[in-house]
Amino acid sequence: MNKQHQRITSLVICSILLLLQPFHVHPHTVCIIGSGIGGASVAHFLRRYSDPKTIGQIRIFERNGVVGGRMATVTIAGETFEAGGSILHPKNYHALNYTKYLNLQASKPKHADDSLSLGIWDGHKFVYKTLNSKSNLPIIRRLVSFANSIIMLLRYGVFSLFRMSSFVEVAVNKFLRYYEVFESRPVFESVEGMLKWAGLYNLTRRTLGEELVEVGLSPLLIQELVTIITRINYGQSVNISGLAGAVSLAGSGGGLWAVEGGNWQMAAGLINRSDVVLHLHEEIESVSYLGDVYELNSTEGKSYNCQVAVVATPLDELNILFNPGISIPPRKLQHTHATFVRGLLNPAYFGLDEISDIPELVGTIESVDLPFTSISILKQHEKDMTYKIFSRKPMADALLDDIFSLRVETIKINWAAYPHYHAPETYAPFILDGKHLYYFNAFENAASTMETSAVSAENIARLILLRLSGQVDYSSPNLQSFSNDSAENHSEL
Ligand SMILES: Cc1cc2nc3c(=O)[nH]c(=O)nc-3n(C[C@H](O)[C@H](O)[C@H](O)COP(=O)(O)OP(=O)(O)OC[C@H]3O[C@@H](n4cnc5c(N)ncnc54)[C@H](O)[C@@H]3O)c2cc1C
Repeated sequence: MNKQHQRITSLVICSILLLLQPFHVHPHTVCIIGSGIGGASVAHFLRRYSDPKTIGQIRIFERNGVVGGRMATVTIAGETFEAGGSILHPKNYHALNYTKYLNLQASKPKHADDSLSLGIWDGHKFVYKTLNSKSNLPIIRRLVSFANSIIMLLRYGVFSLFRMSSFVEVAVNKFLRYYEVFESRPVFESVEGMLKWAGLYNLTRRTLGEELVEVGLSPLLIQELVTIITRINYGQSVNISGLAGAVSLAGSGGGLWAVEGGNWQMAAGLINRSDVVLHLHEEIESVSYLGDVYELNSTEGKSYNCQVAVVATPLDELNILFNPGISIPPRKLQHTHATFVRGLLNPAYFGLDEISDIPELVGTIESVDLPFTSISILKQHEKDMTYKIFSRKPMADALLDDIFSLRVETIKINWAAYPHYHAPETYAPFILDGKHLYYFNAFENAASTMETSAVSAENIARLILLRLSGQVDYSSPNLQSFSNDSAENHSEL
């Protein structure tokens, strides 16, 4: 065989070997629809848990001109406040890790202050009202806070309050299993499986009201304190599932925090540091499976091919065309109208003489007649205040003029905020087509928070990598973390 012959033969052998290479040795391209905390977290964890040979390009599509989705700020009278997802729990470990990893600062927003005076409004009167300390002296504030605890214990009962906090603590401790060490934690291909493993599934079979009656809470505590919390956090009554309720109650405890300057920075920072091609102002209109890739078509008239497609937004109010079609259980989203007002409340609306008699946080009981679910002070200025009002329906200007004696500026946002919760809950699949089309917002039926989004996203990233590697044993996955940066699991766990 002469030299030229030998070269041709080796070229042919090389080509055949290349053709025989299994598909997965080529880096996979991933397309993510949505740049909220979920989409950003999927990109982050895919990078963290894989090497460049496995995951190549990651594209994130966002129909808006900014990232963050339901984490967004609003600027009113020159000051910026959280407009959507605002409060984080002290045990939201992914959010804590993100904050540290991205060199962001945690802050304590005014409306997360446990010493805020609270009133429960029934439409005619305050059925419950804590004392408001107008003093700046710490000793006086402590005394008032002590007096408020006594008032609360007397109204709702020591045992009832204790049982409520135990109920929340048990659920939070179960949720902490999702931070267990990477190597021993299973990967989940269904929401049901994920909830069952942590012992949380049964909480989604009954309503919060039913769960709390069973653990022995007094009807008054459920009707008043518990109800105002579920109304503030999910715009819904105690008929939400026990799990969504426990999450909601956990979000009213102590130690709550937010990211200084806006929680949206978590999504922005994760996207920045995950080597992502970000397509802002590009809405995905259709997702078609072409045999080995998904073709995504956008409103810009462009097409993108990816081996993996992740839907990181609730599908309930969207018109994305899937080909072949997908099937998910019907789900309604709860709309929450967030109205921001710089001005002053009118004490007469509440039957009071002085503005200082109006509690800093006004919650409401469940009643169809009530036009708002809560009003809270976001900031006290020299002469007026910034307030946030939550309501199920838009706040008409005429109504606002009744509630406020002064309105300098008003901003209204209509959020398709979270699922309308039921019990028993049903869940969409994480894998929409049995192949590589994933839906991480299926987990929102369990609870919708920034942290639950991150937890679900971490599972989706692991599920993608496990399935790309052809592993079938989800209970003891063989995955490893490739990152040596500082976003580690919390040291306590
Ligand atoms: C008023 C309000 C208060 C809340 N309060 C809290 C709180 O205090 N604490 C807490 O933890 N959580 C809170 N939440 C819930 C929390 O904000 C959400 O659970 C979380 O931010 C959801 O993140 P996500 O990434 O799943 O979805 P999203 O943030 O909704 O992100 C989805 C993104 O996808 C984009 N998108 C949609 N369709 C397309 C398309 N076809 N093409 C391209 N892009 C598309 C959207 O524009 C959006 O940016 C609150 C939510 C609201 C609305």
